Amino acid sequence: MGDARQTRYVFVTGGVLSGIGKGVVSASIAKLFQLRGYKVDMIKIDPYLNVDPGTLNPIEHGEVFVCEDVWVFEPAPGYRFTIAEIDQDFGTYERFLDVNMHPSNNITSGQVYLTVILRERSGEYLGKTIQVIPHVTDEIKRRIRMVAERSKPDVLVVEVGGTVGDIEAMPFLEAIRQFRLESPPGATALVHVTLVPYLKTVGQQKTKPTQHSVRELQSMGLQPDVIIGRSETYLTEDVKRKISLFCNVPEEAVISDPDLDVVYELPLVFERQGLGRYLVRLLRLEREDPVPHAVEEWENLVWRYKHPADKVVIAMPGKYTMIQDSYISICEALKHAAAHLGLGVEIRYIDSSKFEEDPGLMDEELGRADGILLTPGFGSRGVEGMIQAARYAIEHDKVFLGICFGAQLLFIAFCRYVMGLRGAHSTEIDPSTPYPVVDLLPEQRGVTAKGGTMRLGAHEVHIAEGTRLYEAYSAKVVRERFRHRYHIIKDYALMGEKHGLKVSATDADGRIVNAIELSSARWIVGVQFHPEFKSRALRPSPVYVAFVRAAYEAKRARTHIPPLIPASERVSSSSR
Ligand code: GLN
Repeated sequence: MGDARQTRYVFVTGGVLSGIGKGVVSASIAKLFQLRGYKVDMIKIDPYLNVDPGTLNPIEHGEVFVCEDVWVFEPAPGYRFTIAEIDQDFGTYERFLDVNMHPSNNITSGQVYLTVILRERSGEYLGKTIQVIPHVTDEIKRRIRMVAERSKPDVLVVEVGGTVGDIEAMPFLEAIRQFRLESPPGATALVHVTLVPYLKTVGQQKTKPTQHSVRELQSMGLQPDVIIGRSETYLTEDVKRKISLFCNVPEEAVISDPDLDVVYELPLVFERQGLGRYLVRLLRLEREDPVPHAVEEWENLVWRYKHPADKVVIAMPGKYTMIQDSYISICEALKHAAAHLGLGVEIRYIDSSKFEEDPGLMDEELGRADGILLTPGFGSRGVEGMIQAARYAIEHDKVFLGICFGAQLLFIAFCRYVMGLRGAHSTEIDPSTPYPVVDLLPEQRGVTAKGGTMRLGAHEVHIAEGTRLYEAYSAKVVRERFRHRYHIIKDYALMGEKHGLKVSATDADGRIVNAIELSSARWIVGVQFHPEFKSRALRPSPVYVAFVRAAYEAKRARTHIPPLIPASERVSSSSR
């Protein structure tokens, strides 16, 4: 395939187990092309039947990521659905690649079947029997091509969720088989990611599960070009040879994916093993070597992560039946900000319901942290403890950042304990509160359908000068991403101004309070938006940088340590 302008496709499938980091592998593969100056885009296929992941429980499924854009999905004439909530892997893609992903890049079985069935009802296939092959597989191929046509990338990496052998994934794998058959030679590559467990008792890495999952792929007519073995350590030469022989791929195409302390190191680990060059040749692209300064920039980033000058401790009170993935964008945004400042961050998850039983615990758990972050959320469990944590921050002058629900709870604490509005609450939690200081957005009244119906996507945030928020952004208007139904009631917020509260940002027409802060000595800020969704490895979120910096200043003041040398200077002056 000689046409340099033609999009190349890299399909990534997984074997043996889910949760082995296929998202990070896929993003790292895309990064290898980006480091060579190629334009990349990514698709994630989710075989579940939900139309989008917005209604999924974060305890079960991890975080719901929110896109910059809102997509109006029209499966058939007369049907419209709003989609802006997508799989958490898109957060990884955006953090690695610094590219905004469109919501239509997340293809679910729910969307595919809905489209085919509604089109059948509208008469599009009159006279035909509708079948998985060809109607469902055609729709899958159409959706993949639609992404390529919209963004026209040089390379489109398509991650298939789940593991090979899952019933739901079958139509997607069949569609990929057809897609490869119909593409010119060199236009597609297939990368299979598997687990290579280490058996302590025999002291060996075992290849059998990999062999089985590759055989399963082959039985569906798919031969991988590259096999990536997820393992604790690098694969031994012997293991690589075995995988090569049994799975029918050249030895140089068997790649190690060992445990790493810093996920952002994975593209470098792949590059050192020659994966970038191998894929470029396979896809008949020209640029075999990455651009040196791009690699250097990425190496510096990893170096900063590995060599923090000091650390900050951030306490995150919440309802901790959650898995850590529920807050992955927040954790990554904290790490980006800290690394940018030459610091590391230790995140302490605290079950806030403990504070409800024993408020004395707050001194121990929150008092010793350098900063407190109050998380987004829904529903009432653990909420009273979270409000008490916000109160603690106000009364003890702790550096504090509240995100979305966290900002609403900060406001509730302020209303109750500073303004004296006893029983103030959000109507989400207490519909009969005497002071509904947080209430439904007017346009949300009457909305009963659940999928994609919140206020979603990026909106303008208008920042008041002379505020901490303005200091963080150095801009009057920014765009940030939202996902909420409730909001801080402006009249109460304006009443709060007499007591030391500031409305530091609103939406374009001044209707929705987008951020509040305290005019206290300490940095105490609450934002209705989710700045973490726009934080990238090389471009951290200004709010998170300001928060981590303030937390570190608080630590310095407490422990009398000298100021930091900026990370950028430390990297260049060090002997690496
Ligand atoms: N439950 C709150 C609302 O709907 C906060 C949502 C969130 O934190 N994402 O407004």
